[in-house]
Parts: sequence; C-alpha cells; structure tokens
Amino acid sequence: MPNPSTILIVSGDHRIYRYLDSILRSDGNITVGASSSEEAFRLVALRAPDLIVLGNQLASLRGIEVARMLKANPDTIHIPIILISEANNAEARIEGLSDGLEEVLAMPVDPQEFLLKARNLLLARARADDALQQVLSLKKQLHERTESLEQMRAAIDTPGDAIIWVSRATMRIVEANPTACSMFGYTHDELIELCPSRIFGLGLRQIKRDFDNAIAGTERRQIRQAEFTRKDNSRVAIEMHRYAQNLQGNWTIATVARDISKRRGVEERLYQLAYYDTLTGLPNRILFYNTLERTLIRTEGSGLLVALLFIDLDYFKTVNDKLGHAMGDLVLAEVGARLKASVSQADAVGRLGGDEFAMMLLSTDSKRAMIAAIELQGVLGLPFLIDGHELLITVSIGVTFHREGRYDSDTLIKYADAAMYRAKQEGRDRIRLFTSQMNDEMQADEDLEQALHLAIQNDEFEVHYQPQFNSASKRLSGFEALLRWNRPGRGLLSPDSFIGILESSGLILQVGRWVLETVCEDIRIWIKSGAKPVCVAVNVSGRQWNETNVEASVVKALEASLIPPELLELELTESALMADTEHTTSSIRNLRKLGVRTSIDDFGTGYSSLSYLRVFAVDRLKIDNSFIRRIGMHRDDDALVRAIIRIAHSLNLEVVAEGVETEPQQAFLARHRCDHLQGYLLSLPLQRSNARALLVLAQSTRPAQEAQTSDMRAGKSIAEGRNPHIASDDGSSTPQETLYLVQNR
Ligand code: C2E
Ligand code: MG
Ligand code: MG
Repeated sequence: MPNPSTILIVSGDHRIYRYLDSILRSDGNITVGASSSEEAFRLVALRAPDLIVLGNQLASLRGIEVARMLKANPDTIHIPIILISEANNAEARIEGLSDGLEEVLAMPVDPQEFLLKARNLLLARARADDALQQVLSLKKQLHERTESLEQMRAAIDTPGDAIIWVSRATMRIVEANPTACSMFGYTHDELIELCPSRIFGLGLRQIKRDFDNAIAGTERRQIRQAEFTRKDNSRVAIEMHRYAQNLQGNWTIATVARDISKRRGVEERLYQLAYYDTLTGLPNRILFYNTLERTLIRTEGSGLLVALLFIDLDYFKTVNDKLGHAMGDLVLAEVGARLKASVSQADAVGRLGGDEFAMMLLSTDSKRAMIAAIELQGVLGLPFLIDGHELLITVSIGVTFHREGRYDSDTLIKYADAAMYRAKQEGRDRIRLFTSQMNDEMQADEDLEQALHLAIQNDEFEVHYQPQFNSASKRLSGFEALLRWNRPGRGLLSPDSFIGILESSGLILQVGRWVLETVCEDIRIWIKSGAKPVCVAVNVSGRQWNETNVEASVVKALEASLIPPELLELELTESALMADTEHTTSSIRNLRKLGVRTSIDDFGTGYSSLSYLRVFAVDRLKIDNSFIRRIGMHRDDDALVRAIIRIAHSLNLEVVAEGVETEPQQAFLARHRCDHLQGYLLSLPLQRSNARALLVLAQSTRPAQEAQTSDMRAGKSIAEGRNPHIASDDGSSTPQETLYLVQNR
C-alpha cells in the first residue's frame, strides 16, 4: 500500500477549509491546515507537503500571490498547487495557470472533479520524484565511474610508472602499459595473459591475498617496496601501489610500479659512506661495533665464544713521515685487503681508525682465535710491494674473549685494546692476550683517575720550584715549576706516578692551566714582597697545545697577575711541537713577541730534529737527564752532549742541562759552556716559600765571589733542610737568623 499523501489546505474561510478537508481525507490523504499565508509558509518550510490547496480568501496576501511566491522558490517549485478561486472566472484561471500553478478551480468545487485533479497531481508528483531519484542515482554512478576512469587515466598518464591490470577472476594479466613492457622486458602480447607471479615474484596464493586486500580497501594508497622479476630473470627494485576496480561486475587490480633502482643506488652509496671506510672498503668503527653488538646478542646461550682481535700496525707513523701519506694510504689499503681475505663469512673485520683494525671471530674454543692471530701476523708480515718500494710491516695484536653475557662490546674492545697496548709496550710485533692482571691495572688506572678528579675539587695539587743556576756565574738564573700531588694518606707524589693518567683523561688541560695561573700568581707575590724574581719555566703538555688555546691562557694569566712576560718560560716537548706544527708555531711566535720565553724540554729523547729548532725559534734547549747521567761513562756520550751544546749555540739557543747529580757532570758541563744547570746536586725542587727564600738570598748584597758560590750552595742547603745564613721567610733580610726549612722530597 502506497504511503498516504500529505496535503496542505490554506484557507482563511473556515467553511471552505472544512469542505475541502473532508473531500481529501475521504480519499485517504493526511491534511494539514493553515489559515494565513504566514502559517502556510512556515508549514511548508517545516515539511514540504505533496500538494497545496490554496484558497484565495486570505488575510494579508491573495492566494495567487502566495502561489507565485512558492513557485518562485526553487525549494518549493516542484510542489503542485491547486488554487481555489472565488468565482468561475476564466481570467483568474488563465492567470493562475500561466503563473505555473497546476490547477485553478472555482467555488463551489465539484468534489469528484476536485478529487480527480488532486489524485492526478499527486500521481504526477510521485512519478516526478521517482524520475528525480533515478536521475540522481544515474548522476552518482556517472560520477563514480568518471572518478575511477580518471584514477585509471592518471595512473596510465604517470610517466615512468608501469601499470599491470590483472583480472581477479582469471588471475591473468589483462592489460599493461608501454612502460610495463619496457620495464620488465616483454612485448605487449607476451605480457597479456602472463601469470602475474612471473613478474611479482610471489606465489599465486599470496598475490590473491594481496588483491583481496586491495578489493577490501585495506591496501588502498599503501605504497610498498618490492622487487619484480624481468623477462631475463634480473630483478628490479620498485615502489608500488594497487587499485581495485569493478568493471561490469569483474574486479580488476591495477598494480602501479615505479623503478627505484637509481634511488636505491644513491641510498646504498650513502649507506656505504656512513658505514664503510673509503680507503680500505672495510666496515668502519660504527658498523664494526654494531656487528659485534648484534653478534653478542645473537650468540647468547649458543655456547659459542666471541673472540676479538685488536690489530695495530707498528711504526706506521714512520711510514707516513718517511714515504708520505699517499704511500701510507696504499699500505693501509693493502692491509685491509689482506685482512678481508683472511676473514670467513661468519666473522667480521673492520677499520677502527688510523692504523687500528679489529677482527671478530666466532668459535667453540679459544684456540681458533690464537691460531688466527698468529696467521694474521704471518699474512701481514709478508713484504708489501708498493709503488716500487718493498716494505716490511709488523703488527701488535691484542686478543680477548667473550664468554656468555659477560661483557658488552665497549668493554670487549677496551680489553682487546689494552692487550694490544701491552704488546706494544713489550716491544711490538707480538700477540698478547688480555689477562686479569691487565684488568687489575685498568681498574687501578680508573681508580687513580677518580682520585685525580677529587684532587682537583679538593685543591690537593701544589707547585714546587726547582732552581736553575748559571753554570759560569753559579748564580740563580731561574726555576722550573713542577707539579706535586699532596695525596691524602700517601704524602707528596711526583708527576711520574700520575701524569700519564692526567694526560689520557684530559684532566691535564685543567691542571695545566691551574699550574700556569699559580706560577704567575706566585711570581706576583714574590715581586710584591720585595724579592727580585727570576724566570720560571712551566711545563706545557702536548694536549694543551693541541686542544686548548695556550696563547690565550698565558695572556689571561699575565693580565691577571700583571707580571712582566719575560719572567715566564714555557717548556714544550718535541712531540708536542710535531703534532700540530702550524698552530703551535704561530702561538709560539705570538707569545715570544709578547716577551714570553720558550724552551724545548727533554731534548734528545724525541725526534731530535735540528731543523725544527730553526722553524720554532725557541729560546732554550734542555738536554734530557738521560744524556747527563751518562757523562763520563763513554766517550761517545760525552761527544753527543758536546755536540748538542755546540749546535744549540750556533743556533743562538741557550742550553740547560737537567738532572745534574754529580760534581764531574757539573764540571764537564761548565767546561763545555753549557749555560745553565738544574739537578739534585744543586737543589731539589723547593716549596714556594723556600723558593722565595732562595730568591731573597740571591739578591742579598755580597762580595761577588762569595755570592757566586753561595747561590748554588744555598739552594742545596735549603733543599736538604740545613740552615744556611740566608734571608728569613717573611722577607726581611737578616742573614744571621735561622730559617725554618722543610725538606720537600
Ligand atoms: P721534566 O719537565 O723533564 O722535569 C724534570 C724532572 O726531573 C722533574 O721530575 C725533576 O724533579 C727531575 N729532576 C730534577 N733534577 C734531577 C736529578 O738530578 N736527577 C733526577 N733523576 N731527576 C731530576 P718531576 O718533578 O717528577 O717531573 C717529571 C715530569 O713530569 C716532568 O719532567 C714533566 O714532564 C712532568 N711535569 C711536571 N710538572 C708538570 C706540569 O706542571 N705540567 C706538565 N704538563 N707536566 C709536568
Ligand atoms: Mg720540564
Ligand atoms: Mg725534562
């Protein structure tokens, strides 16, 4: 049964309304009444009726005017209207019909005719509604179709993209664009009807599953990477997405693929750069660590032993220095190649940096690793024929083992490194296994480093001053500032026991600056107290030159203390000079312009290159005490010391002999015109108050001859804790008073 129609009856005349209402209701319609035009508009807006019956007798507007307004509105234009005019007036009827009303009837209305007209209009309206629905649905279909066609077109038009359409029902390729043909190496005819698994490289069952996902929409717009197979069986890296289209009830799946081999190539090159060493082609430090880490995790519980070999070339620096970096690079590349050839698939090798390599071996027992290490020694020990040169290289190898979840990769590398270091210490060209004793030593070093951190915080460092004397006049000519650690419970420690850890931990940077500032401050106090100061030499480590701005630190310390720059001397070692020549040379030059003096410490123990003495233009050269110790023992040693003094003089450098312990050494050095002497024979290093006492003594007015001998003697007496007749510690010059002197060592 059709739904009853809703009819709005608009009439200001109550009787007419009831009359029309009864006719329409009798035919099964639902009626709604409005007595004014306003009410009519409101009801129409609320819910559009299927038909409006409009009486002409209304209060504000005439029926025809209400009808015109409804027909002028696009929302209500389609609602049929029957206008009931007051009289059978042909004019009114024509006016109404020409205004678009569906019917104009005159009162009194014939019920039969009225009902018939109403029914016809309602029927026409229902048909029009159906037609409208049909049109709308057609439009929608058309839109959808166009959209998928456009998608399809867009897909086809994308340049460089291969498209393959596969019928879900037959699972055969039904269409392919020219790019697909060229990308996969088939003609169009060959491609059509091909089974898609030939190209997609997957089983049909998997492809069906993927297609069904595309049909269900779960795969829509998902871009995936895969590898497809060409006709010649080569693989092509692609990025793809899928569209499912329903064409006349059949699902067709379009696979759109883009060739990304070029992009992959770039990505692979980036990966190569990030994780491989360019010189040797071996995995770099990052990749080697990653591999080791993964292996440690993977082998957990397997019972396998992970061995780590830390390999370092011996004297590689000499190869670089003597033959140049280009040759050095060729040697490293050849070492890399030999290591690569020696490693099996399950193992790994990498270049950790410089001349350091590492190898990881998996085995069931430790023997294999030791055999491998010995073999490596042999392989790397074979002559290197490079650019017409035959080179022989030896290596130091440190070995450590990982047993079941014991160490992490960092510790393992640290241990192997420590074992390698031990191999170096023991003379190089050997293999050393990491032992528990090395572990103890490492632990002791770590404890010492901790204690040194605390020492800085707790102000446990002191500076002592070892006097230097002019060998001809025997007068005090300078001091060397030497670091001491007043370690709680252990007494005064000399740097030999901790300077290595200060260096390796980098704490030397902080402590070195402190020494510099302390020395400048002490000189300031000495000047202020009236003592005539002498130049004080401060040791500056290589790390300070390379990692800090020594020049700026010195300028700052001089400005803070306001002492004359001539009172400060910087001692450098040969290795510090060699490390960063350019930077250090310019700093030294600037500091010398300021008036600060410079000297080369421990001369003879390093490169002893005479050429850099000219390049660096230092003021003094300190002959290392190992040479001084051998004076008088052998003619060659004596000749060496004499030669150093002569060459230094010819370069206008002053010479300081350090470690003078005996009278014959002193006499020899004086005879050969070594300018200054420093050593236990003359004085031990002094505490700052005693250094000041010596200064005061040195300036006290005495007959020239007496003064000459007494400076040296006084230094020795002060150091030994005897009581020479010298100035008292408070600065007043009272030679007869006793000075309280403390022995420092
Ligand atoms: P160095 O600069 O060569 O200092 C000379 C060392 O020889 C000092 O040892 C000194 O006490 C010692 N010495 C002096 N006369 C004799 C002697 O007649 N016989 C013997 N056998 N030794 C003598 P010290 O004070 O233990 O210092 C050792 C090294 O520690 C210094 O060698 C220097 O390289 C380093 N050092 C000391 N203080 C500092 C510092 O403030 N900064 C830096 N970077 N290094 C320092
Ligand atoms: Mg020194
Ligand atoms: Mg020295």
